[in-house]
Formats: sequence, structure tokens, C-alpha cells
Amino acid sequence: MFEICRTCGGAVQTSALLAPLPFVTCERCGFTFRVDRAEEDVHAIYEEGAYSGALATLYSDPATLRNRRRDARVRLDFIAPHAPRGARLLDVGAAGGAFVEQAIARGYAAEGVEPTPEFAAFARDSLGVPVRATTVEQAGLEEASLDVVTIWHVLEHIPDPVDVLGLLLTALRPGGAIAIEVPNAGGHLALSQGREWASLQPEVHVNQFGPRSLAAALERAGFEVVDVSSVTVTPYLRRGQRLQPGQVVHRLRGVQKLRTVSSTHPHGHELLRAIGRRPAAAQPAASASS
Ligand SMILES: [Zn+2]
Repeated sequence: MFEICRTCGGAVQTSALLAPLPFVTCERCGFTFRVDRAEEDVHAIYEEGAYSGALATLYSDPATLRNRRRDARVRLDFIAPHAPRGARLLDVGAAGGAFVEQAIARGYAAEGVEPTPEFAAFARDSLGVPVRATTVEQAGLEEASLDVVTIWHVLEHIPDPVDVLGLLLTALRPGGAIAIEVPNAGGHLALSQGREWASLQPEVHVNQFGPRSLAAALERAGFEVVDVSSVTVTPYLRRGQRLQPGQVVHRLRGVQKLRTVSSTHPHGHELLRAIGRRPAAAQPAASASS
């Protein structure tokens, strides 16, 4: 049982917003996490194939794969200012490999690691891209061997996110960048919908990040925080989906609530994105337990 916040070390208490679900919330940074999940249980979910049967619906159907490729291009636009072409890039939680494929197409020396074996096999056999079937902890990453790490919708699944960030910090060269996306538990939808929030997914999302806690996790792992902001899901939707009445109403509510038409906001939109950088000067990473 953790009695302190896993990202900032602050005091935690039962989450009033999510009770009776077994989440605690940090009084200082707002990080909200399940205290009843161990690293081993969570690895087993992915390695033993809880998602294996979902390869077609999540990934390999032609229409779905088109969507995953579009997701990848949205994220590549996001990282472009921080990741020059030719950069050595590792995608962590690479799933079926669409991001690695699109990154290679844009000139990156990209590869991936993915714990669900069927997903990694699809990436290699069907897309022809280098994705290894392994957890990041077991990947044997070489120190300072990478220019960029991308980790899309992974940190919310991992009981000790600062440990994983610390591993990735070491694998980056000094000055190298990490790009993160997670659901935004600090956004207006999450806060107004509580346990009904569609992205809560309490069985698999053991961590619920907001902007402050995501920044705290990066800092605790030793990164410089370059940027943390919230973004809308709109760029990830097909044109037809964007025009559906439910989506239009949802967007208008967001405009009303956040008083902006911008697709980025410091804390209010549905997704959180962050860029961190390994400090250029050689200095040891802060340990997760310090
Ligand atoms: Zn905290």
C-alpha cells in the first residue's frame, strides 16, 4: 500500500470524486491512482493476452488501421518541433505498429516495444516494421541510445509511472525528448462526469493524470518539463464523426465551459500531452523513492 503520491510524494486521501472505486488522490498535485494494483498483475494483463482477441477491432481491420495511421500522423505533427528527421525514436506500447510505420515514412529511425505478442507480430508481419514483443522494463534499452521516446496512452496503465519514465530518461541521450499523451483526468469532462467519464476505465487505467501530476511525474523522473497542455480529441476523429450531433454538442459545451475555441488549453480538454527533455548537462536522475 502506497501512502504517498507516486508522482510528487505528497499526502494522499480517498478520491471523493471516484468513490467507491479504490482510487486515492494526492492533495498536492491531484494525481489519482489505484493502490490495489501491483506491477506484476498489470504486466500479466498485457503479456497474457487480455487484448490479444481485440487485435482486429482495435487494430488490423482495414478501416481501423486507417484510423490508427491518422492518429499517428497527428502525433507526428505534435513531436516534429522536438524531433528532427533521422532521429532515433522508440515508441513504447507500440501496439500494432502504425505509429512506427508512419514515423519511418517521415524519416525517423523508429522502432517499438509492445507487451502484447499478437500486436507486435502484426506490426512485424503485416506492416513490416520493427516492434519487439517485450515490456519496456525487460527491453534492455541501452543507455543514451535514443533521441526521442514516444509513449502514447501507456502511463495511465502502469502502476509505477515514475520508474518507467526513469528508465526512458536513461535510454535518452542528454538533450533527448520524450512525448507523452494520456487521457486528461483534470479536464472539464472528467471532473463533471466523475465515475461516468468514458476514459476513466478504472480496470485498466490505474493512474488518472491531470496537468500538474503529469508534470510532477516527469520532474520526479529527472526530466525538464518543456510543455504540458490539454488538447481536444477532434483531430483524431474522422470528418463524419466530427459532424455527428453528439460530437458537435460536446464541442460546444467545451467552448462554453473553457471559454475558448482553441483546440489547446492549459488544463480543460480531454487529452493531455507533454514534452519532457533529458537535461543536457550530465546529472543523475532523481530516484523514484527520493
Ligand atoms: Zn502528488
